[in-house]
Amino acid sequence: MCRHLVYLGPPVTLRELLFDPPASLVRQSWAPQDMRRGGSINADGFGVGWYSSDGDDPVRYRRAQPIWSDPTIAQLAGVTRAGAILAAVRSATVGMPVLESAAAPFLEGRWLFSHNGAVRGWPDSMAPLAGALPVRDLLTLDAATDSALLWALVRHRLRAGVEPGRAVAETVVAVARAAPGSRLNLLLTDGHTAVASVAGHSLSIRRTPTSVLLASEPHDDDPDWQAVPEGQLVVATATEARTCALLAD
Ligand code: GLN
Repeated sequence: MCRHLVYLGPPVTLRELLFDPPASLVRQSWAPQDMRRGGSINADGFGVGWYSSDGDDPVRYRRAQPIWSDPTIAQLAGVTRAGAILAAVRSATVGMPVLESAAAPFLEGRWLFSHNGAVRGWPDSMAPLAGALPVRDLLTLDAATDSALLWALVRHRLRAGVEPGRAVAETVVAVARAAPGSRLNLLLTDGHTAVASVAGHSLSIRRTPTSVLLASEPHDDDPDWQAVPEGQLVVATATEARTCALLAD
């Protein structure tokens, strides 16, 4: 069970988003509230990606250690302000390596990506889908993990010009067919649009007229948080959000 979030809206500091809320992502790393799917702490690494100004590619900071034990992120968070942020804390699935390169967000160009869940039957169940990727993509996976392969599958579609909502939905549906029982909560953003799938884990959304926050679990008791139902895909900008069934065409 990892925990992840994406924020789009008026610039905030990383500290305001990740540290200050009563059930912040940092707190969720050692005391997550929603433990339905097992796992107890998210201490196998973390990462944050942010867009420092409109039009620039994101900056990423990730480490293989618990977020609470890294003094640098605490300092950076106080002075780093952004209007688009994706962050994750990781609980490695059994058998997967604990490495910085296995921590989300995964990055290419404008894109940041995260996965909360696990692919059932890994790695053999992924043979047919992995086999359809260019060999170069397999040789350059960030890490030997299900999440890194999921990113390669999404990225392959993005590179081919597939629109981001469809790239995520198609990937979730294909993996769910190849590996039934997988948990596939994905997050993808280019700093303007955020896409999230709800497939096996919780996800909540909180909107204001100028911002959207999608998170594995609410980070405070604001009544505006809404749980997104299982099987849904959310596509949001700072000012608009739509939800549809993952399986809809
Ligand atoms: N399976 C992924 C990993 O090990 C994600 C784990 C999770 O969601 N807890 O990195």
